[in-house]
Amino acid sequence: MAQAFFGGVHPHDMKAATNEKAIEQLAPPAEVVIPMSMHFGAPCTPLVKAGDPVKVGQKIGEFRGLGAPIHASVSGKVKAVEPRPYSMGGNMMSVVIENDFQDTLSEEVVAPADPDALSVDEMVELVKNAGIVGMGGATFPTHVKISGGIGKVDHVLINGAECEPYITGDHRTMLERPEEIIGGCRYLAKMFGVDKVIIGVEDNKQNGIDAMNKVIAETNAPVVVEPLRCRYPQGGEKQLCQAITGKQVPPGGLPSNIGCAVFNINTTCAIYRAITKGMPVVSKIVTVSGSGVMEPKNIECPIGTPVSLLFDACGGLKDGTYKIIAGGPMMGMAQYTVDVPVGKGTGAMLAFCGKEEQTVEHPQCIRCGKCVAACPVHLEPLFMYQYAEKGMVDELNEAHVMDCMECGACAYVCPARMHLTQMFKTGKQLVKNKAAADKAAAEAKKAKEAKEEKEAVNK
Ligand code: SF4
Ligand code: SF4
Repeated sequence: MAQAFFGGVHPHDMKAATNEKAIEQLAPPAEVVIPMSMHFGAPCTPLVKAGDPVKVGQKIGEFRGLGAPIHASVSGKVKAVEPRPYSMGGNMMSVVIENDFQDTLSEEVVAPADPDALSVDEMVELVKNAGIVGMGGATFPTHVKISGGIGKVDHVLINGAECEPYITGDHRTMLERPEEIIGGCRYLAKMFGVDKVIIGVEDNKQNGIDAMNKVIAETNAPVVVEPLRCRYPQGGEKQLCQAITGKQVPPGGLPSNIGCAVFNINTTCAIYRAITKGMPVVSKIVTVSGSGVMEPKNIECPIGTPVSLLFDACGGLKDGTYKIIAGGPMMGMAQYTVDVPVGKGTGAMLAFCGKEEQTVEHPQCIRCGKCVAACPVHLEPLFMYQYAEKGMVDELNEAHVMDCMECGACAYVCPARMHLTQMFKTGKQLVKNKAAADKAAAEAKKAKEAKEEKEAVNK
């Protein structure tokens, strides 16, 4: 079994509510709201307008620069193209589609005649056209990760850690769709030119490991499943690289710096569907769980489905629900409304009505050092907190706050309940603001000097 990475914590996984529940298909929603930003990079430009007919898989948003295209997830008519609330906070330009319940597939979705005969470039193009992004929540465009890594990467890793409490969508995918995962791995091995692909899975998913090993043996696939000891945040790309290869990504670096490329389990399935069927990303598996949910489930729904419908499909929310989080409890984002749509990176919607949240109004650090031992990137959270609280931006920068992955491990172990992660989000923003202000001041100074020099020449 692979060694774990430095630091981390072992929270209760809270997965029992859904890990034995098969993925359910949501009844088709009457309307979907598809945000034009579901990826790392600039938002897409809408390609449709109100009144246009659309079909499943039709491209409705085009990207520029770093990004991925966006496709209609239902067939019907575009009702509006307008800003709507979305799970990352604020509003985002969105395409609202009225479902005609015909499920008509777009002519743009064409399966390759012989997927196994495709060249590497053709496979990357299919991945790009399918709008695939990191489905674990990072939402980095997958075609960029592949094309940027070819020739540099010698370890292709599949992230099956799913270390955040409550979330079980990847686990269920291992049990229910192992052929898609292993098939996607085959194509990744071919694209990167590696002998084998390694799937890292925490050992609380032994039946998932067994299901994939069965397919690997039956198909003689160039894939190895590596069981990992449970430890949060093992699903962080850098931690997974360390746990599997023993190599550490340098501070501020990327997995590619140590020859690794990491793909999520459901991203791998999406690669398989794109290459074998030409199918873009139009649906998402979401774990709906937490003490506020009547009947927790794993649900697959069209992209753009209002989150309120997911809760309805789980019997609704309990009285006293006080918090809703998109994503896991450690790194997820609190939501102020259930009128946000499911995006490509939405892996879970959690609702809480119990005593999960133990907050303290004026927490005081007792200098126990537990946060330092828990930090997987070797930071000193107790000092960073003080610097951020006092607005000491240079000290924050020198303490490498920008390397903080906001995993919440330090806050989890802190006996004083310090609001560490929240403070680091603020601290990172302070550093960014100062860098922008310094840059603007330097440019203004340069422009002033150039003007003075010009005036001196003209005198
Ligand atoms: S864990 Fe909390 S109380 Fe202990 S040193 Fe860190 S911030 Fe202070
Ligand atoms: S939130 Fe940041 S400082 Fe805290 S443990 Fe995670 S990486 Fe370290």
